[in-house]
Amino acid sequence: MPKKPTETGSHPGESEAMGEILTSYKLMDKNTDWMENAKCHTKDGISWFPEIGESHLVSAAKQFCSDCPVQERCLKFALDNEIMYGVWGGKSSSERRRTLHSRKYKAKMGL
Ligand code: SF4
Repeated sequence: MPKKPTETGSHPGESEAMGEILTSYKLMDKNTDWMENAKCHTKDGISWFPEIGESHLVSAAKQFCSDCPVQERCLKFALDNEIMYGVWGGKSSSERRRTLHSRKYKAKMGL
């Protein structure tokens, strides 16, 4: 079971959080070049890994992601690597979980 990153500063440009992710997950997509253009390089104070019930923090993070130039790539990275913690690409963990279930179902059914 991958560890939950503990860092709550910048994301995913925050090297400490990314270090935990890169060592905890068996990454299918290892290309992190896009992170150089991550909007979250420029902003601290956003909680990227809110706890259950902290929906206001999830909303704040999603809002911040909404005009990030690498939002789609960030989301793809999280989905392809099945990273289930935190906000990535403007999507919460539960939103990504639903997308992954749908993706796997379609693949299984040959859709
Ligand atoms: S979409 Fe959000 S989490 Fe992803 S790189 Fe951009 S600001 Fe960071």
